[in-house]
Amino acid sequence: MTSSPDISDFRASTRAWLEAHCPADMRKPMEREEDSVWAGRNAKLSTAQKQWLDAMASRGWTVPTWPTEYGGGGLSHADAKVLAQEMAALGCRPPLLSFGIWMLGPALLKFGTEAQKLEHLPKITRGEIRWCQGYSEPNAGSDLASLASRAEDRGDHFIVNGQKIWTSFGDKADWIFCLVRTDTAKKHTGISFVLFDMATPGVSTKPIQLISGKSPFCETFFDNVRVEKSNLVGSLNAGWEVAKYLLTHEREMIGAMGEGALPQSLQQIAIAAVGLDGHGRLADLQLRAQIAEFDMDEAAFHATLARFGELAKARKAHPAMSSMLKYYGAELNKRRWELIMSAAGSDALEWESDRSNYGGLARTWLRTKGNSIEGGTSEVQLNVIAKRILELPGA
Ligand SMILES: Cc1cc2nc3c(=O)[nH]c(=O)nc-3n(C[C@H](O)[C@H](O)[C@H](O)COP(=O)(O)OP(=O)(O)OC[C@H]3O[C@@H](n4cnc5c(N)ncnc54)[C@H](O)[C@@H]3O)c2cc1C
Repeated sequence: MTSSPDISDFRASTRAWLEAHCPADMRKPMEREEDSVWAGRNAKLSTAQKQWLDAMASRGWTVPTWPTEYGGGGLSHADAKVLAQEMAALGCRPPLLSFGIWMLGPALLKFGTEAQKLEHLPKITRGEIRWCQGYSEPNAGSDLASLASRAEDRGDHFIVNGQKIWTSFGDKADWIFCLVRTDTAKKHTGISFVLFDMATPGVSTKPIQLISGKSPFCETFFDNVRVEKSNLVGSLNAGWEVAKYLLTHEREMIGAMGEGALPQSLQQIAIAAVGLDGHGRLADLQLRAQIAEFDMDEAAFHATLARFGELAKARKAHPAMSSMLKYYGAELNKRRWELIMSAAGSDALEWESDRSNYGGLARTWLRTKGNSIEGGTSEVQLNVIAKRILELPGA
């Protein structure tokens, strides 16, 4: 396939810029948790991480397709794809991981006021503010609209009381996007979407430990938290629309989570563990067949992602397609890690030594179990697909 002269010029200048500005340390595969840059007010970044983040942010390339007035790069989807390809070719790490980029930003672009966009989006693109998501509550997960955290109207502000749960990085985030009940007489139409600083008096968090031994999320408590009305996104009691739109972006993000996340391919891990036979094929016949089947399913998933990308660009994607991507991507990633664990053998279960990078493989494998729960469980995605895409009759 040939590229237009404009695209070829853009590719050449992008490559030259990346070569000049991406520090050598930021071109190595990410192996440890500290290699991920989530930034924010309290982050401690290495010199190379900071340099790379600042360089990319100065061009708006932490979020290449957002408008330049909000700190984005203003790139077309075609140019953004070229940038991603050139970054991949040089092995550049993502400069910034962010719920602000993947979730809140798209929702603000659609539902935010101009003042909210100008206030929050540039800080997201520069990694100045790290966001967390306050959706789930102890009695509102799959049935999210049952949420009970209450925001009382006090004229120019709300007073928020209640509890959230499973707030990923709640203890590390600077601000929260949060669903609160503003009308107790209605269910879906009594919910509002608000933003507030996690340092506001009355906000507290308590980490929850997981089977992986880590505590990536928290219980989050609100005790008479003052939230200015200027931080209401969308209209009062219309937060469910904002919440659903944000979820479509979250689901796409989770669906694509497994892609490119491995420092080594599944095949490389398997070859290192079981070796090759006399014909240069993986020595374990059963594992070979399982990996071949996985590769075919993954290729089909990539084709589906590409098709979705094209449909989304043409604004023809069914809104519930994100549930398909989330469902399949999450299940595929769990399969990928089951295969990695069986390929790598009992060594991969090692948990605490330097040699295993403190159980890097085992802990990631356990973390993938959450993929089919976070952002809405696989069962819930199947319900959405049945109802909205297949239009099957309800029970
Ligand atoms: C890794 C991870 C990160 C997360 N991060 C966040 C976060 O940052 N912020 C946040 O707000 N939340 C977060 N969550 C919470 C997540 O959104 C909820 O766990 C999820 O929505 C499910 O809710 P629940 O845990 O209450 O399970 P429940 O809703 O109680 O579901 C229990 C089981 O019942 C099934 N079920 C429920 N209803 C139906 C139905 N109608 N039909 C068929 N089956 C059904 C479910 O599929 C599930 O198997 C995170 C979760 C995980 C695992």
